[in-house]
Amino acid sequence: MHGKNRIGFNLSNQGTATLHSINPATAETREGPFSEATSEEIELAMAKAETAFDTYRNTTPEQRANFLEAIADEILGLGEELVMAAMQESALPEGRIVGERGRTMGQLKLFANLLREGSWVEATIDTAQPEREPLPKPDIRKMLRPLGQVVVFTASNFPLAFSTAGGDTASALAAGCPVIVKAHNSHLHTNELVSDAISRAAKKCGLPDGVFSSLAASGFNLGSTLVKHPKTKAVAFTGSLGGGMALYKMAIERDEPIPVFAEMGSVNPVIFLPEKIGSEGAQLAKTYAGSIALGVGQFCTNPGLLIAQEGEALDQFCQALAAEISELPSATMLNEGIAANYDKNKSASLQQNGVEQLGASKAEVPQNGASPAVARVSAQDFLANPNLQHEVFGPYSIVISCADDSQLMEVINHLHGQLTITFMGTDNDFKSFETHILTAEKKTGRVIYNGVPTGVEVCASMQHGGPFPAATDSRFTSVGSDAIKRFSRPVAYQNAPQFLLPAELRNENSFNIWRQVDTEWTNKSL
Ligand code: NAP
Repeated sequence: MHGKNRIGFNLSNQGTATLHSINPATAETREGPFSEATSEEIELAMAKAETAFDTYRNTTPEQRANFLEAIADEILGLGEELVMAAMQESALPEGRIVGERGRTMGQLKLFANLLREGSWVEATIDTAQPEREPLPKPDIRKMLRPLGQVVVFTASNFPLAFSTAGGDTASALAAGCPVIVKAHNSHLHTNELVSDAISRAAKKCGLPDGVFSSLAASGFNLGSTLVKHPKTKAVAFTGSLGGGMALYKMAIERDEPIPVFAEMGSVNPVIFLPEKIGSEGAQLAKTYAGSIALGVGQFCTNPGLLIAQEGEALDQFCQALAAEISELPSATMLNEGIAANYDKNKSASLQQNGVEQLGASKAEVPQNGASPAVARVSAQDFLANPNLQHEVFGPYSIVISCADDSQLMEVINHLHGQLTITFMGTDNDFKSFETHILTAEKKTGRVIYNGVPTGVEVCASMQHGGPFPAATDSRFTSVGSDAIKRFSRPVAYQNAPQFLLPAELRNENSFNIWRQVDTEWTNKSL
């Protein structure tokens, strides 16, 4: 029964069945074989999505909200089978998977609420002024409308929340866009269960066949075909810099270039300011050892660079951090490739000029496991070596010691774009280093004070994205309700008859949304 591609409401297995669901903890095959999507299946999924778009884009916000909630219910209804599949395919513990399922359902409900409230469409109305001199002013009304079908590349490190029914899919469906998922080969069984849940929800809600499809294949051909396909209107991706940039280049070289919203690498620098590290060094070391190793370091917000001024306080912090790291367990990573990459990239980092290992876990390393480690390098060596800004995906961080305030500023100016930059400081520190903090804002999507970067709240005010290479477009977020904006575009209607306008722009404000009417915000009808 397993192993078919889901094309709208139908299952199909034309291609050769060569893919397997693997348990990285044992390296054993657990389900399958799953069939590789053929070109005919890709064409069918794309054609169905195109047809579905004409109906789906005109569904009411209430219909789409009901759909998202139905998906959440179907996911919960999968019960233990889903939890077990996701655990065994990712080597993540039950608590994490159950939490992630809650987050996935929470995201779907967040978008359902956003749709019901309705003001996210940015409805703007400028009423006509027929008597205006020298020319009359026309009636112009504008709002956000769906882009078209979206290809979603699911992420390896969140088998549920950034995957088949994750934030990208939820936000695209909320916007009114059909979704074609490129399943991650690490979660083929999880993907199949969730794809079926989405399909059941679509049927129950009376939505068109083709509003959702999910395809799998080995190698890059499926992904590149989907990105290059003329019917694709946008792409969402979470993963490596190499993968994201390859897809981005394909998308801009198309006859019709399309946006690729890729969330890629980030080393999430943390800057420990002098008074704070001097007074709380041991506690900071404990907190940060936990953050470095959380989820086996497999978070895009993992703190990869820890920056401070050299001196006794930093030396003591380094000693405490090394001691904490040495006591941490080793754990299985998401898949064999990610574990191999971790070892390769960690070794490469440790071999760079001036890098010394501070400490490493003493624990035995399991199959496909990662051994946590921390290293130290001078700011001078860091500034001279671009390799040290590369993400080492896993539980590894480098401490950078700066000679003084001005070298700290040099390091901040030298940083690539980041998802997050964190400042650990006292009130005095923050006052003394205000210029450094304001400079860091240019480099990041989120500035954090006295916290850890791991843990991304899903809410309206979250920004999960940042200047390149953290993301391909720093104006957008892939977490939180504004993620919907990636899959919509403004359309203006000039002198349109009322019945041809979307409900959100008609004189009668039937959804009671907030609109800007003749430059004033109001939720009243005209
Ligand atoms: P990935 O290699 O970037 O792959 C993600 C998805 O994109 C997969 O479905 C992959 O297809 C596809 N893909 C990648 N390159 C492609 C190309 N050139 N053409 C077409 N499709 C392409 O990420 P991953 O598999 O999740 O993990 C690998 C590494 O990515 C990790 O070791 C880590 O360094 C990094 N990573 C970073 C983050 C982050 O949030 N910053 C998250 C996860 C992973 P296939 O399945 O066929 O390979």
